[in-house]
Amino acid sequence: MGFAMKKILCIGLCVLLFAGCGGYATVSSERFESMDTFMQLELYGSEATTVAVKEEILRLDGLFSATNADSDVYRLNRDGSARIDAATREVLGKTQEYSVLLDNDLDIFVYPLVEAWGFISRDYTIPDSAAIAALLPAAQTAAVTLSADNQAQITEQGAKLDLGAVAKGYAADRAVDMMRAQGVSSGILNLGGTVAAVGKKPTGEPWRVGISDPDNSAAYFGSVLCSDRFVATSGNYERYFERDGRRYCHIINPRTGYPVDNGTVSVTIISDNGFKSDALSTALFVKGADGAQAFWQEHPDFDYILLDDSGDLYITEGIADSFRLLSGYDYTVHTIKSGRA
Ligand code: AMP
Ligand code: MG
Repeated sequence: MGFAMKKILCIGLCVLLFAGCGGYATVSSERFESMDTFMQLELYGSEATTVAVKEEILRLDGLFSATNADSDVYRLNRDGSARIDAATREVLGKTQEYSVLLDNDLDIFVYPLVEAWGFISRDYTIPDSAAIAALLPAAQTAAVTLSADNQAQITEQGAKLDLGAVAKGYAADRAVDMMRAQGVSSGILNLGGTVAAVGKKPTGEPWRVGISDPDNSAAYFGSVLCSDRFVATSGNYERYFERDGRRYCHIINPRTGYPVDNGTVSVTIISDNGFKSDALSTALFVKGADGAQAFWQEHPDFDYILLDDSGDLYITEGIADSFRLLSGYDYTVHTIKSGRA
């Protein structure tokens, strides 16, 4: 037997032994910045698939960014109408459906208010009430009309939109579709606040996804077991400023034009769809603990974990058993049960 053959056999044996000792198929990973956040992909599949997934996420960022002058969203905001990519069309269509379902607590047209509060420039300011009142009507009533040839038009003069609330969830769906199309059925994709837990770990166990500690971005207060689930979190600690002891966060209540201030610290949604998890995390943050519970009772096709500023943690019954509160966190856990018989 030649040296090369011996070497191949040896490598093969090592892989087998490794697998036999509880080792796994190869993980291929990518870390990169996109959609204003850090992302990390870990796929049990080929490097080519991981790179293709990363490139698709970067492509979507290039279409959806509100600040990049080449993007679909930028051109639409600047000109009031634009020809857009099929993906932008799809995300705009879905967003409008969800806004209706969510009684407009998901409102992509709050963008001029997000700007007025300084969340884009990072030059944070408290706008005067007249400025907010002037921006509110268009934010509340605007829509986008979409024609078959991917032409989009904003219906209100001066209205501008931003897909920050849903872009990562939509990208997560596309990423998972792409993985599956390429025969990869296991992996964990962290798109910065939106996680896709695909299939199971190579050991056959579900993934355990951490839920961020609002006071320490490097830590988790708890975790939940997931398989084929999308976990999205919206929190008042992600982007905010403080004035006179008050915190102003980046999620705007579309009814008032002011940052949400309802005692909610974070909302995590666990569902079978990335877009849904991301859209609901933002909207249920706006709705707050009572509104979130009322919405869930009507639409129980997801689970949520809501933390408020009194340390009360509300968890829907579907994940109560798989949720683990880490030691050192003395939150009071309440299980939300379905009101249906
Ligand atoms: P997320 O982190 O998914 O909750 O998305 C928050 C981002 O969505 C913000 O940074 C804004 O760009 C945008 N946004 C803020 N308030 C709303 C809202 N009520 N509906 C839709 N998008 C919003
Ligand atoms: Mg969201």
